[in-house]
This record gives sequence, C-alpha cells and structure tokens, in this order.
Amino acid sequence: MTAYEPVIGLEVHVQLATASKLFCGCPTTFGAAPNSQTCPVCLGLPGTLPVLNQRAFELGIRTAVALECRVAEVMKFDRKQYFYPDLPKGYQISQYDRPLAHDGHLDVAGGEAVKRIRIRRAHLEEDAGKLLHDPNEPFSYVDFNRAGIPLLEIVTEPDLRLPEDAYAYLVELKAILRALGVSNCNMEEGSLRCDANVSLRPSGAAELGAKVEIKNLNSFKAVKDALAFEMDRQRRVLERGEAVAQETRLWNARAQTTEPMRSKEEASDYRYFPEPDLVPFHIEAAAVERARRELPELPARHRQRLVEAYGLSAYDAGVLAQFRPLGALFEQTVAHYPKPKPVVNWIMGDLLGYLNGRSQDPETLVFQPAWLVHLLEAIERGEISGKTAKALFVEALERQRDPQELMQGRDVRQIVDAGELERLVDVVVSEHQKSVADYQKGKANALMFLVGKCMERSQGKANPQQLKSILQRKLAEPREAVS
Ligand code: ADP
Ligand code: MG
Ligand code: ZN
Repeated sequence: MTAYEPVIGLEVHVQLATASKLFCGCPTTFGAAPNSQTCPVCLGLPGTLPVLNQRAFELGIRTAVALECRVAEVMKFDRKQYFYPDLPKGYQISQYDRPLAHDGHLDVAGGEAVKRIRIRRAHLEEDAGKLLHDPNEPFSYVDFNRAGIPLLEIVTEPDLRLPEDAYAYLVELKAILRALGVSNCNMEEGSLRCDANVSLRPSGAAELGAKVEIKNLNSFKAVKDALAFEMDRQRRVLERGEAVAQETRLWNARAQTTEPMRSKEEASDYRYFPEPDLVPFHIEAAAVERARRELPELPARHRQRLVEAYGLSAYDAGVLAQFRPLGALFEQTVAHYPKPKPVVNWIMGDLLGYLNGRSQDPETLVFQPAWLVHLLEAIERGEISGKTAKALFVEALERQRDPQELMQGRDVRQIVDAGELERLVDVVVSEHQKSVADYQKGKANALMFLVGKCMERSQGKANPQQLKSILQRKLAEPREAVS
C-alpha cells in the first residue's frame, strides 16, 4: 500500500487591537447591540470614501517584523468581489498582489526538533458582517458591527506536516501576538480565526496533492482534530483509487467530521482589482526599523532567559513565556523573594490548578506579586503551614486580597509548640488504635494516615514534619506508654 505524507498550510485571521475600524471611525467594541456600530463608510453607501486606520497599519508592521517578514516598500489594497448577505459593499477591501509583508518565518518547537514554518504573506483586510440564524424564523438577521473591523491575515507556506505541528504553530503565534499587544486573540469573540488547508501526497513525491480547505474551526483543538479527521478521510479516498476533490469543507464539531461546503474557488473568481479609493502606500524603511527596535521580548527569547537566569525547566519556562501574566508574576515575585524553585512551583501547581479548575484564561489573571511574596515569607518564617498557605492562596485569588491581610485577626498561625503537638498526637493515637497497630505491624502508610488525622484536627495548622517525628517516636515506644 502507498504511504502518504500529509501537507498542511494555515491561514490565520487576527483582529488588530484598534479602537476604530479599518477604514472608518466606527468603534470596534465587542458585544454592542446589532448594527449600532456602523456608518455610511462600513455600510458601503455610495459616495463614501475609506481612510486607512494608521494604528492598524502600525500593528500590522509590528507583527510582520516579529515574524521576520520582509515589509513591502509599497503596499496596496484591492477589492475582492463576491456576493454574500454579510458583505454590504459587495466586495471586501483586502490586499492581493502587494501585501503589507511577505516571506517571514516562525520557529515552532515540535516534539524534539524545532521546525521553521515559512510565512508566505501577511496582509490587511476588513472583516465582513455576521449572519444570525433563528431556527424559528423563515429569514436570517444580519449584524454589520463586524463589517470593516481590521484583520491581519497571516498565511503560511505548506510547511506543516502533522496536526500537532499545526497546533504548536497556533499556540506559538498566539503567544507572539499577545506579547506584541496587537490582538487579544480571543477565539470566542472571533478575534483569532484559522482556516486549515491539507492534502496528501505519496511519500517522497515533490508535487503537492489536491488540497481541502477546512473552515469553521473554533479552537486550536478543533484545528488539530479536523486535520486528523481530514487526513484520514483523504487517505481512504486515495486508497479506493479515487481522487481527492479540491474543495472547501466545514468542520462539524459535534459529529467530529468535515462536510463539503463548496467546490474550490480560484483567485480569478473574485475579479480582484485595485481599490480605486485608496492610493498605494509607501512604507518608510525608517518606520520598519523603528518597529523592529521597539519589539518587546518575544516568547522564544523569554523562554530561553527563564531557563538561563532562573534555572527553570524547559517545560516551566514554556508555560510562563506562553502566558505573560504568569511570566510577569514569576519574575516580579522572584525579584523580592529570590528563590525561583518554590515560586515556580506555586505558579505551575496551585495557580495553574486553580485557573484550570475554573477554565479561566491565565491572561485574565489579577494577582499581585506582593501577595505571593507575603505568603512565601510567612511559610518560611514558620508562621503558617503549607496547608494553610494553600487555603489562603485560593482565598487571595477569589477575593483579590493580600494573604497577609487575610491572616490578620485570624488564628491561622502554624502550631509548632512541641507540647501542643504532643497532646494532639495523643488524642489522635487513642482514637485510631487500629492504625497504630497496623503501623507497628509494618504498614508504613498508617503513619501518614495518622499525620493526616492530626492535620485535620488542627484545621491544617500543625506542622506536619514535626507531627511525623513525634508519631514515629511515640509509636516506637512500648505500647503501654501510649495512652
Ligand atoms: P488559495 O488560493 O486557496 O488561497 P493558496 O495557494 O493561496 O491557496 O494557499 C492557501 C494556504 O494553503 C496556504 O497556507 C498554503 O500554504 C496552503 N496550501 C497550498 N497548497 C496546499 C496543498 N497542496 N496542501 C496543503 N496546503 C496547501
Ligand atoms: Mg486563501
Ligand atoms: Zn463605519
């Protein structure tokens, strides 16, 4: 049987973080009442003229530079014409043969090796409106608030090979876009969208196979799942001796399948022609240079620095660099409490656990480094037990308060007094004679059970190390001494 090699290319649309639309002054705020953010320009009324949003242009350049693209000396806009009810003008202003930028790349850590994914082009374009379908009505609604929202479309070369590569590319791209501050990358709000192209070819062949473009991908996981499904479907088609149809398919997340949407359109179907209302733009080399100088630290560099400066594992550094608020919390905490190990453990363990448990995006985290510093210092001074610290940490997160403040006026101090701990152990031992006997018969687990009971009884305030050694000592004594 022929072995096939998958070939994947991604087209990502990011909404640029501007206050107003690409060619008019309408606001871009998400969630406004339908059609409340429209004007004659974005509704395409006759006699109106588009004016390019300077900020969108700058954010586009910043992104292009971060992706090591060549920024065009002259870029121009074109009309991409098609008919659809969400497109008020009957055409979309996009860029065809003179995009903002081209020929960049993004290095993606796929498994062991780093893969370089070439970026074919990045161009500016306006978004379309949104159709709303009410199953109880014989018609649809249309909301033009999104019409004219600035997008940057970032297109890769077909350099990806596996669904996991595509996933890793998207994660890295999103981390970069967020580090740059060019987009909030919120997929639920449509600020980041991805179409995935995939084909198969016999292993070793130079020529590309017929590709399928998959749309309606609402998450990175959907991209991965849809690609895996589609590779499989195409393989079966080829193995039947048939040809894969070049077409656009929709991902059906519920059924976990792709469904045909339309046969593939060609560029010529769109009758692109230069947008006559916008002149070609000359891009100053100085502006590109400035953008390059002003680039913030990007995730790849950030990861490397976290490993080198703090001795973090590659995995921990990867997570902290992927989510800026976590990385910032780490570095600012370590600046005041210079022990990277416990700090990273709190962030990777308790904090991420808390966020994951509530499906909260780390990007929305509000937590002061000083709060973690206070907590760690209290543990180090022996004032609170690890268990109390964990509870205080969650409370600090939930109530947005400094743990130090939460501790005030509360009896949370750790019990380290030997006499007090001995009394506690005596009570627990007398109540759990069976476990005592088990331990003395050689069941080591029984000791941890008894420590646990002591912790419970002290409401988490006893020092577990001390408890353990008291228990070990007491249970090693002749049984009569235990009473
Ligand atoms: P279209 O004309 O459909 O937009 P392009 O050639 O411009 O197609 O490519 C769009 C995307 O599809 C790019 O990301 C590109 O890398 C990818 N692509 C192109 N050809 C193939 C192929 N045969 N298999 C997989 N991906 C492909
Ligand atoms: Mg395309
Ligand atoms: Zn408008």
